[in-house]
Amino acid sequence: MNVSELKERLLNLVDVFEEKESLLTELDRAIGDGDHGVNMLRGFKALPEKLDDSSISALLKSTGMTLMSNIGGASGPLYGFSFVKMSQVVGDEIEKENLKTLLNTFSEAVAQRGKVELNEKTMYDVIERTNEAVNNGETLSFEDLQSFAESTKDIVATKGRAAYFKEASKGHVDPGAQSSVYILNALIGAD
Ligand code: ADP
Ligand code: MG
Repeated sequence: MNVSELKERLLNLVDVFEEKESLLTELDRAIGDGDHGVNMLRGFKALPEKLDDSSISALLKSTGMTLMSNIGGASGPLYGFSFVKMSQVVGDEIEKENLKTLLNTFSEAVAQRGKVELNEKTMYDVIERTNEAVNNGETLSFEDLQSFAESTKDIVATKGRAAYFKEASKGHVDPGAQSSVYILNALIGAD
């Protein structure tokens, strides 16, 4: 993936988050405060004006800075920080080997910032499972990513707002797990 392909994929996320706003809102209404759809859309809507397409690294960094200052909530700093971190390890193209490093950096950034582990019912579950699979040489489809998000359904949340719902958080897909499906899909070029 070169600069213009990544730019196209990032800008396409504006449409994706328009389309998925109500789904993410619904999910966050069940086990949070109902703002995740609005938050993600606000963050990505700010992208077209702010993207620096002088290199892949600049693209990722400008995306991170924009998401950090526009998404808000718990997810804004997590996604924002992750994109800035990824900008520091990316090469001129995103290819097979570099993608592994990129996903590893994404996962470590969220773990570090969110102080989160697997099976706490967050975006981290999807990001780390994707990281593991890609680093094991697997090629993931959109459906594979979606299945990682679905697997958060049976977990009792122990991080973020959803943790206040305790046992009642069971039976719902985590909103951040769902939004990370779209972001990872753009990065790994699943479709
Ligand atoms: P808020 O919870 O502040 O309203 P959002 O609704 O935008 O923020 O984002 C909620 C999502 O953020 C959750 O669904 C979860 O995936 C993610 N999240 C919250 N806290 C953490 C954390 N400590 N580590 C990783 N992800 C987290
Ligand atoms: Mg929320």
